[in-house]
Amino acid sequence: MSKFWSPIVSRLTPYTPGEQPKLSNLVKLNTNENPYGPSPLAIAAIAAEVGDNLRLYPNPDAEPLKLAIAEQNAAHGITPAHVFVGNGSDEVLAHAFQALLQHDEPILFPDITYSFYPTYCGLYQVAHRTIPLADDFSIRVDDYLGTANGGIIFPNPNAPTGCLLPLAEVERLVAGNPDSVVIVDEAYVDFGGDSAIPLVSRYPNLLVVHTLSKSRSLAGLRVGFAVGHPDLITALERVKNSFNSYPLDRLAIVGATASIKDQQHFEKTRQAVISSRRQLVAGLAVQGFDVLPSAANFVFARHPNYDAAKLAARLRGDGIIVRHFTSARIAQFLRITIGTDDACKTLLDALQRHLQEMPADF
Ligand SMILES: *Cc1c(COP(=O)(O)O)cnc(C)c1O
Repeated sequence: MSKFWSPIVSRLTPYTPGEQPKLSNLVKLNTNENPYGPSPLAIAAIAAEVGDNLRLYPNPDAEPLKLAIAEQNAAHGITPAHVFVGNGSDEVLAHAFQALLQHDEPILFPDITYSFYPTYCGLYQVAHRTIPLADDFSIRVDDYLGTANGGIIFPNPNAPTGCLLPLAEVERLVAGNPDSVVIVDEAYVDFGGDSAIPLVSRYPNLLVVHTLSKSRSLAGLRVGFAVGHPDLITALERVKNSFNSYPLDRLAIVGATASIKDQQHFEKTRQAVISSRRQLVAGLAVQGFDVLPSAANFVFARHPNYDAAKLAARLRGDGIIVRHFTSARIAQFLRITIGTDDACKTLLDALQRHLQEMPADF
């Protein structure tokens, strides 16, 4: 703390991202990165953009990217005016908190969810109320109906549980809250859910947020986008243009555009992750883990007999990093990113060894 700080700074609770270790020979299953590389067409487009052009500012509205996203969703009535792009979906979400969720009533989100949401509430001074997930960690839509609120936000599939809310239930939630904005953060939807983008043309209060960090394997490029009614998009643009006119650099615009257009690479890698997930879930179940039903590129698993923190520490000793959260209700879970089949096997072998060696904790 310092006397030079603005008062709000000492009251912030910054988000803690998963560890990005410096060692390179680790099996890194802790931050839900894609084990397969990005589209080769994206890499080629970025390489082609590297040159003297970098002295020039990029397109302030990232128009080629908005166009590619709109074209991909044209069947659902999406035009470039329905699309907002940002420097990672975290930035898109931050602008959405400021542009769409600062009202008198508190906003609602699940008690177990993406931990950046309370951080944005602190930064933008948005009051919030958390709604407990059901005992099976599902979102109960009825709990979000008939209660005055300044907006609703949740990831679908949820993080860090991986559980999916079926699209009909998403629609019931959106339709049941016509006077507030509902933000569906679909960071993981490509790994097993139906996107709510087709609902956008019917619900002016729905904003769907996507990232290229997970299913498009471009976490290092920092690109995310939102799809919603043009009035919502205009609010986001007003905030963005009061903050940073050029959030996407030239490399990000061309790389993201090429990635969105490469449906073949997307399908192939997405299916590979889904198939590895099936095998990992089966392997964990054989070892006695309870695994929540996952529609994401990670699984959330607990063992009835062994402490999660101890398991995570032992794996760490083997050079395998998984994510362990200490918050209430989930302290006995490990969140394990789906790696390559080799990485999943290394993890399962290590777990099996530890379960044999360790005295039971419970
Ligand atoms: C990974 C993730 C994001 C952020 O993605 P970036 O585009 O890399 O900023 C947003 N929401 C959830 C739920 C995520 O897991």
